[in-house]
Amino acid sequence: MTTLMKGPHALSFDSVQRVLPKARTGIFTLGYVDREGRFRVQSVGRDDYDVRARLSELIGSSTMFKYAVLGNAREAFLEECALFHELRPPSTIIHPARQRGTDWQCPHCLQFGL
Ligand SMILES: [Zn+2]
Repeated sequence: MTTLMKGPHALSFDSVQRVLPKARTGIFTLGYVDREGRFRVQSVGRDDYDVRARLSELIGSSTMFKYAVLGNAREAFLEECALFHELRPPSTIIHPARQRGTDWQCPHCLQFGL
């Protein structure tokens, strides 16, 4: 699942502008690279409309990011749920939210009931 994520890249204005396409649905993880060179995820997130804009707002909150651009918001939700359950990011306590007005279900838990 995490193999589709691109990066890590520095969470800086220049790098976010250079790497990410404009106004696309996507998911991201924020974290840092440890002494062994492994990317350590601290949090996970998504934006249904503009993942570049969302990451731009998060500059300063972490040092590195990985991302994936996805075809639609439902796909992004499912990928974010998978990352949330797989990685258990220490700084993401709250389960990913589904887009308002949808009945999307997380395939990994019963967060939204049956
Ligand atoms: Zn879930």
